[in-house]
Amino acid sequence: MAHLVPIPLPTDYWRPQLNSTYVNNSGKCLIGVWGQVGGYGDNRIGTEEDEFNDDLDSQPISLMGLHADVVVYEVRGVRRGHKLMLMQRNGTTWRRFSTNIVDISWNMADVWEWDFLAGKLPRCKHNAKISYYPFGSSQRRPVPVPEDVWMRSIEHQFDIICANPLGQALVKMIDKDVVIHPWIKSYHNANSAVKFSPQDWSDDGPWGSAPHEILLHELIHVLEGNYSGYDDRYGFMFDKSDFLSVNATNVYSCLLGRGLRKDHHEFNKLPDEHFNNPKLHYDQQEPNYDKADSHTPDIVRELQKYRSVWNPFIYC
Ligand SMILES: [Zn+2]
Repeated sequence: MAHLVPIPLPTDYWRPQLNSTYVNNSGKCLIGVWGQVGGYGDNRIGTEEDEFNDDLDSQPISLMGLHADVVVYEVRGVRRGHKLMLMQRNGTTWRRFSTNIVDISWNMADVWEWDFLAGKLPRCKHNAKISYYPFGSSQRRPVPVPEDVWMRSIEHQFDIICANPLGQALVKMIDKDVVIHPWIKSYHNANSAVKFSPQDWSDDGPWGSAPHEILLHELIHVLEGNYSGYDDRYGFMFDKSDFLSVNATNVYSCLLGRGLRKDHHEFNKLPDEHFNNPKLHYDQQEPNYDKADSHTPDIVRELQKYRSVWNPFIYC
């Protein structure tokens, strides 16, 4: 097993000793790893809850004068209470591979923590259940985004969504607290935790990949309680969780005159035969439509109101 060590290195760094640390004004944190096995692609600093490698960004960096048996990681997105460990790839999942766990006692650059604890984070003007926790956006790779810019850009995406009657209805349906954090990793993605940075996406991106479509997609996961009972059918891949998120967003996109997304793999175009014949889509995916209808009937009832666009939900 490996262990985490402080930077600068103590002389007896080969001995596990680091159980707690804080993050300075940079908002980034240096952590050393002694005893790492395998390459950089198979190791990262993470937390046990972070099963998809989404929460923190950890980059191995080399520092002059350090010992060859220590890898130094720069970790971004760390907040108080995170419990850091070395995670090692085990097939398609990650497992803990450090003997010690390092508790983050404080992050000096995170000025939002007290607002969060006091329930005073900035709130979305379209639904007060939704609030913003901007820490991390100015540590993002490759291009940092100032926190106020990140927050305004999210609100702008909500304005776009809520200018659309379906988008507005879905946003209003959120009735439990949702905190939106920046997506800080260098590759673009978003998740239903909800971590999202509009700067990762292009307004004229293809088939469901405009920033407001990505945001609405993640909010649908929230509304579904991250339901994951869907099936892949007829060559449409939904990865268990992404049938309603993709297809409800398709109805929204069609209302805006945008192109529609086929499934959850990449951002491919919905085939013409399904676009021109929504009943074919319904017939092939009927078990998935049934699941959406029984799991989240409120969403399906709302979708059924929109009859002038591509909308297989009207057959439910
Ligand atoms: Zn999704």
